[in-house]
Amino acid sequence: MQSLIAALSDLLDAESVRVPTRAQLHDSTEVRGIEPRADAWVTPRSTDDVGRVLAWCNARDVAVIPRGGATGFAGGAVPLHGGVVLSLERMNRVRALEPLRWRMHVEAGLTTAHVRRLARENGLLFPPDPGAGEQSQIGGNIATNAGGPHAFKYGVTGDWVSGLEAVLASGEVITLGGAITKDVAGYDLLGLLIGSEGTLAIITAAWLRLIPAPEAALPVVALYGDSVAGAAAIERVIGSGLAVAALEYLDAHTVAIAARGFPGPLPESGGFMVIAEADGSAAEAARLAGEVAAALGEDASILLEPRQRAEIDSLWRWRDGVSLAVTARLGGKVSEDIVVPFERLGEAVEATLAIGARHGLAACSWGHAGDGNLHATFLVEPGDAEALARAESATEELFALAIALGGSVSGEHGLGWVKRGQLARQWEPAALDLHDGVKALFDPRGILNPGKKLSRA
Ligand SMILES: Cc1cc2nc3c(=O)[nH]c(=O)nc-3n(C[C@H](O)[C@H](O)[C@H](O)COP(=O)(O)OP(=O)(O)OC[C@H]3O[C@@H](n4cnc5c(N)ncnc54)[C@H](O)[C@@H]3O)c2cc1C
Repeated sequence: MQSLIAALSDLLDAESVRVPTRAQLHDSTEVRGIEPRADAWVTPRSTDDVGRVLAWCNARDVAVIPRGGATGFAGGAVPLHGGVVLSLERMNRVRALEPLRWRMHVEAGLTTAHVRRLARENGLLFPPDPGAGEQSQIGGNIATNAGGPHAFKYGVTGDWVSGLEAVLASGEVITLGGAITKDVAGYDLLGLLIGSEGTLAIITAAWLRLIPAPEAALPVVALYGDSVAGAAAIERVIGSGLAVAALEYLDAHTVAIAARGFPGPLPESGGFMVIAEADGSAAEAARLAGEVAAALGEDASILLEPRQRAEIDSLWRWRDGVSLAVTARLGGKVSEDIVVPFERLGEAVEATLAIGARHGLAACSWGHAGDGNLHATFLVEPGDAEALARAESATEELFALAIALGGSVSGEHGLGWVKRGQLARQWEPAALDLHDGVKALFDPRGILNPGKKLSRA
């Protein structure tokens, strides 16, 4: 190991290389019992540095595990069997910010919140808004093709990426797309890298598309007696052709857990919550919000329409903190991001609770209703190996449920380590072969993030 550290220090400099402690190697899946192991942690300053590290490691079959903000929920950034963790944290420069052309060119290590702030300060919007934006990096968002509440109207991170600079396992640098909005010249290699979870190449920089920020964004919050009424309200909004920017849900258990910090009155009895947001010009947003309130209001026990900037910010801050509030209930959770056709959401929420009950686990779910994307969750105490084993069995049933309802095992977090092999549930063998062939083509020696995004167990 000493020789690895010495060689990497020669390639970069001593300050950019260290031996990590085990505690530094986790991501948001810490409770799930992954035993991380790495021999070195490097923090390159440039694309050139990344290229030199990859070329050296590739020639010697040393694993390289790219790491962004480590907020991932699939164990993707966690090293499993040693090797080099390559953290992008120091590659956080803005290469170009062109507000009048609605675009920016940034390095992969810039945080998501920083990207969004830069856009906002210039009257623009970078729409993808996954939670934990102060920690997650734009490179990590691209590598997982992250979503977020406003993906319902605006799409996921990949929809806002027009170009990438990336380094292949061999150390060669490739540039795909750029400051252009159309490009059909070759196969969609850009699309392949988006969502590839560090298994095909290391993303070092991205060209991002921006749009003028909507003048107003007006949320409407409604509470229902049960998930049947809540799911019906969600269908009413979509069926009425109301093009809201966000359409979120929280089941009654999640609302009960997170109720304390909610910025507004909630009935003692709680309930199934739907949050919709109407945006556009001030007049458009107000008209749409009124129609949304009418659609959601039909069976609602409570309807809230915050209109002050501070109230609206508090609502979204609260929504952003729901995942952490649920974790805090017992100290840990096993949560999966299954997707179903949105009209099956109510069924999926009820089935998640039933799966939890069968395994003796407290369960809850919340997520992106308009996208049919659940964060189906089982609560566990950290270190309770027996409860964790039950939760892992419960997730197997969750994945089977998603497929049975016509959905997918992952809508946001990717396969990473925790869902290794689960793709085989939903793709034909020929498609799985293509998936594995792509990996072999990009990374013939298998040094990039080994053990992750495996199609077959
Ligand atoms: C509180 C909370 C809320 C969240 N809410 C959402 C949400 O609403 N929507 C959503 O989609 N996700 C959400 N997430 C999950 C997570 O934030 C996203 O997946 C995020 O995009 C991960 O970014 P990161 O920089 O932390 O990546 P990491 O966790 O560091 O890495 C994730 C994967 O990407 C790879 N990777 C990272 N950087 C690079 C790079 N530069 N090049 C190549 N590969 C790379 C890693 O190897 C790993 O496989 C949430 C997480 C938390 C903790």
